Amino acid sequence: MSADGPAICVYCASGPVDEEYLRLAADTGAAIAAAGATVVSGGGNISMMGSLVRAARGAGGRTIGIIPEHLMAKEVADLDSDELIVTETMRERKRLMDEMADGFITLPGGIGTFEELFETWTGAYLGVHDKPIVMINHDGFYDPLLGWLDDLRARGFVSESALERLIVVDTVAAAIDGLTRR
Ligand code: AMP
Repeated sequence: MSADGPAICVYCASGPVDEEYLRLAADTGAAIAAAGATVVSGGGNISMMGSLVRAARGAGGRTIGIIPEHLMAKEVADLDSDELIVTETMRERKRLMDEMADGFITLPGGIGTFEELFETWTGAYLGVHDKPIVMINHDGFYDPLLGWLDDLRARGFVSESALERLIVVDTVAAAIDGLTRR
């Protein structure tokens, strides 16, 4: 934890612009700020990533963005971020996001979001770190994935203890609560 309070890394989409998802991201950013925490993000100012950080700052919070140099144009680097770290590679981006965070929230997203979630999650169940990992299953967005994982648990591919490491909630308020519960 830094002098600025806990840091919460948020993984979310860089594509869709549907109002419902932008609002969810904004609510998440504002709630993290209201909880006195810093938002750590991928450093883009588009789609849900952008709504997240703008709302966090709008609510008086602090944001740290970490973006690879080659994505600065494509993901519209968040130049208003309190701290913007430019990395050479995606791996470096992800490593810094993970290291700086005291906990993680995953919102709806695409394969980039999944990749980030799964790496953090496997790290948790393999004992690499002990940080809380929360998924906001907004409106059942992740139901197909969670259903498949439950089937894999029944067939022995995924352990119960691994599934227990992921805190699945429906709302932003429950996510903030989940980060502090463990
Ligand atoms: P997506 O969920 O596909 O919209 O991607 C969300 C964010 O994840 C975007 O900022 C992507 O650049 C980022 N991302 C995708 N793959 C990786 C990766 N391997 N390491 C770090 N960030 C990634």
